[in-house]
Amino acid sequence: MIELPDVERMIDNFVGYATGKTISEVLVDDEEAVDVDEDLAAEHIEGHAIEDVQRHGKYIVVEFRSGWSLVFHMGEDGHIELESQTVPPLEDTKIRLQFAAGRELRFSSPGKQGEVHLVEGEDFTGLETLEDLGIDPLSEDLTPETFAELAAGHPRSTLKGLLLNQSIIAGIGNEYADEICFQAGYRPDQKIGEMSERQLKRVQKYLTRVLRRATLHWEAAHADPGWLINHREEGGRCPRCSGPVEGTTLVGKKTYFCPRCQRAV
Ligand SMILES: [Zn+2]
Repeated sequence: MIELPDVERMIDNFVGYATGKTISEVLVDDEEAVDVDEDLAAEHIEGHAIEDVQRHGKYIVVEFRSGWSLVFHMGEDGHIELESQTVPPLEDTKIRLQFAAGRELRFSSPGKQGEVHLVEGEDFTGLETLEDLGIDPLSEDLTPETFAELAAGHPRSTLKGLLLNQSIIAGIGNEYADEICFQAGYRPDQKIGEMSERQLKRVQKYLTRVLRRATLHWEAAHADPGWLINHREEGGRCPRCSGPVEGTTLVGKKTYFCPRCQRAV
């Protein structure tokens, strides 16, 4: 499953090359998944340079100097990569943006969730999830105080439910939600209403720490023996106390935690 740090890594892999370069041709491979009118693409994308690439939660927004943007919804398993035009595209490729120099940006998604939309300016009307997207967890606006305040508005939610609620905080997925709960030392099914402001601020601290580390040092973070992420399985052992990791289902997602290290408040 794609999570926010994975999306950051994807952007890092093409942003340096693509920014400032002009798209020569747009090729739509899957018309069902791609909400891009050919005439509009010819007018506002082809022949225009990429101005900037932004991430909003798990969306990637490629902005063009024409003032129009392509919005990629990564869903559960979407992927954007820079590839030579001579390499045949994968079967699940949805759209290709070609550069004159022989390379192209490819968006693929094996599942049904990956989508692409062409929008004018910042008009995300109709892109429901993007329109209603909550605060970005890596934004400076998410201070401990802001987090505690946002959380306090959802007293009946569980801690994991809060972390996964994209309209409150955008971009945290299942595995990192469990990791944040583990490192902060709280049970994922902990009710928000029972937590103090100090405890909620502690969650924010670990939320930022986990996501920053996973974004900046993805390999190191995933290889860290102290992270729960490597022990998410039946019979897995807690990296702190070596006790058994417990598996359960919360908000419809497979959830792992250590009942010894993660206590109810
Ligand atoms: Zn433990």
